[in-house]
Amino acid sequence: MNPSRVPLIAGNWKMYKTPSEAESFAKELLQEIPEKADRNILICPNYLSLGIVKNILSESHILVGSQNVFHKSEGAFTGETSPAMLQDLAITHSLCGHSERRGIFGETDEMVSLKVKALLDYSIVPILCVGETIQEREENQTLSIIRRQLTTGLKEVLSEKAGSVIIAYEPVWAIGTGKTATPEQAQEVHAFIRKELAQLYQEDISRKIPILYGGSVKPDNIDILMSQPDIDGALVGGASLKIDSFLRIVEFHAQ
Ligand code: PEP
Repeated sequence: MNPSRVPLIAGNWKMYKTPSEAESFAKELLQEIPEKADRNILICPNYLSLGIVKNILSESHILVGSQNVFHKSEGAFTGETSPAMLQDLAITHSLCGHSERRGIFGETDEMVSLKVKALLDYSIVPILCVGETIQEREENQTLSIIRRQLTTGLKEVLSEKAGSVIIAYEPVWAIGTGKTATPEQAQEVHAFIRKELAQLYQEDISRKIPILYGGSVKPDNIDILMSQPDIDGALVGGASLKIDSFLRIVEFHAQ
């Protein structure tokens, strides 16, 4: 991490926790997660629990985000949720293009770019997720895949708004598998992302954009990951579902 960027620890609850479980867990977080001026904390529950969790955490230091969004404001789009609806609940962030959305639900870079733009239009911070599969890594395509996902995902974002975007590097082979990228592998890609952002925008803008790492982040690897100069936070799936592991991750110590 770099002290000029406030680190962010984000929990992605995926399709876990019923609304009543989410309610009890949000109350527990409120009790247990200490407020620290030097780091931000974000929770992304399932849509059905967003309002409940937001109500519990609305006066607290814990931010609440969505896991997905559709790019239209309203309309005949059965099953979808708009940025206007998220804004009405005072939701501040949304994941965009998570690899499970891309891989299971067929989201393309083009679709992701519309979501990024729609969120910014409603002043919601998009967390644009990028990352390569194991096959792409083995074929030495990691950097070209990341470049494509970034360039297309951000193509509707003008320089004035680029500082409001967050990037999450999540190697697909590390998500939910227990295999974490080594700190060196993660730092290499994060530094590449920052260089690409400097080319797409300007160097000073690229230095402001937080780049999170995601993929089997756990209490025993968070400190070393957060010690890398271009890792500004973590997107945490499985380990955000239990209070003890999430608490330890939030309390990371960069070396
Ligand atoms: C994720 O859901 O974005 C994620 C990184 O999951 P996990 O931490 O379980 O690998």
